[in-house]
Amino acid sequence: MLHFDNRLVRELPGDTDSRNHPRPVIGAAWSPVTPTPVAAPRLLAWSREMAETLGLDERELHSADWLAALSGNGLLPGMETYATCYGGHQFGSWADQLGDGRAIFLGEAVNHAGQRFELQLKGAGRTPYSRRADGRAVLRSSIREFICSEAMHHLGIPTTRALSLVATGEAVERDMFYDGHPADEPGAIVCRVAPSFIRFGHFELPAARGDEALLRQLVDFTLARDFPEIGGDPEQRMARWFEEICVRTARLMVHWMRVGFVHGVMNTDNMSILGLTIDYGPYGWIDNFDPAWTPNTTDAQGRRYCFARQPMIARWNLERLADALGTIVPDPEVFGAGLDRFNATYTQAFQRTFAAKLGFAGWRDGDAQLLEEAFDLLNRAEIDMTLFFRRLADLSPGAPAAEPLGAAFYDTARQVEHAEGLAAWLQRWAERVRADNESDTLRQARMNAVNPCYVPRNYLTQEAIDRAEQGNASGIHELLDVLRHPYREQPGKEHFAAKRPAWARNRPGCSMLSCSS
Ligand code: AMP
Ligand code: MG
Repeated sequence: MLHFDNRLVRELPGDTDSRNHPRPVIGAAWSPVTPTPVAAPRLLAWSREMAETLGLDERELHSADWLAALSGNGLLPGMETYATCYGGHQFGSWADQLGDGRAIFLGEAVNHAGQRFELQLKGAGRTPYSRRADGRAVLRSSIREFICSEAMHHLGIPTTRALSLVATGEAVERDMFYDGHPADEPGAIVCRVAPSFIRFGHFELPAARGDEALLRQLVDFTLARDFPEIGGDPEQRMARWFEEICVRTARLMVHWMRVGFVHGVMNTDNMSILGLTIDYGPYGWIDNFDPAWTPNTTDAQGRRYCFARQPMIARWNLERLADALGTIVPDPEVFGAGLDRFNATYTQAFQRTFAAKLGFAGWRDGDAQLLEEAFDLLNRAEIDMTLFFRRLADLSPGAPAAEPLGAAFYDTARQVEHAEGLAAWLQRWAERVRADNESDTLRQARMNAVNPCYVPRNYLTQEAIDRAEQGNASGIHELLDVLRHPYREQPGKEHFAAKRPAWARNRPGCSMLSCSS
């Protein structure tokens, strides 16, 4: 039995209007809202690690009461349901109020170790923040969120988590490519879990509205609940807190660049105050290395959120948070130090991480150029990012033959064209490795700890989705199982480490995704 202690609704002002209709919510941080029941819920998948962290045993999770709670059909003792109010900058422009349009909180669970977790159902029906949308989620996007958030956790990357995936037994209508062809799709609900789902946009909205009282309450609450370790006088605490957010966000960006993750929609409402990966929408994983790649079809023109721009965008988003917090401090310049820390932390973590990815003991002068040349080669020769870095560890610095990298090429003509360039680069890489004068074992262990063998490649998740839409959820379990140990070669599971097959190159869901979910 989970213990709930719902601080957010207890300590922050709530909406006095309890009717569930779309509206601007002024002067309140949250609105009470009841999930809309679904016809025939079925538990398709769950995370045993997340259940364990919460202190739930599997039998409990499979009980009728839990199924009801995870599908929005009933509440367990201590649960309270609400949606929170936030705004955000979308694609560079201020979007005003957004809010939890299809996420409904179940409350804050506290486990045996005293750790606090917010639980929320994504796709549980309309809220006052749903605007014209239905508050629901389709199975394909729910599978994507379920698998990727757990995979991120196993990769050691800060993320919100997923406890469960429930099929609702109801249809949801979506126009997948916004081209006037709506179709019915199976609906689903993911129960997401995080110590805090508070976003940059939670602070931006009251700041934009000039609601200093609410902004202060939100800041005080977040500091007290989510950052209790930060001390000092009020202004110092704000500055230190912002600096901490900058540091965490910088580290997160390095993680994403390390594994080839493209979030796809880095709007400020999708930025976590804890530096977690949050809101899995049209995200994607780099197959053939391309810094300009984005899976999000809505962003295909501007490529604002493409792979290479993510760190820069994170910084831009932090500046918007600083603008918001700056409305309630005497000297908004105090946040400059945090922004400087973002750059310094990013550079430092990036160098440490990419030194490890390349197998170097540390970052030296000249390594930046070697890495730049690798990126250029990977891009022009269409080489798979994950396979390249993983296989690089197998090469002998004494005689770096390119053969083990053969499987990472997508195009034979390009492979031939760039064979000489690759051989030359490998010679210089090998020379650099030899300069460290380390044992192969040590170097390989360091490389294999940061270069995953298995990532939830877009096509792998799509295969699991295709099967689940035919009524067979076992693909979800198989994929998640492999992704539990992403850095360990798993005999018999080679299929999951393979580069994207030709059929998936331009298939929707594998390389292109819309925001429709
Ligand atoms: P996103 O781009 O997914 O981060 O969503 C932006 C905003 O749209 C958030 O306020 C979401 O809650 C809202 N939203 C997205 N999809 C839906 C939906 N199907 N029903 C209601 N609100 C939605
Ligand atoms: Mg969002």
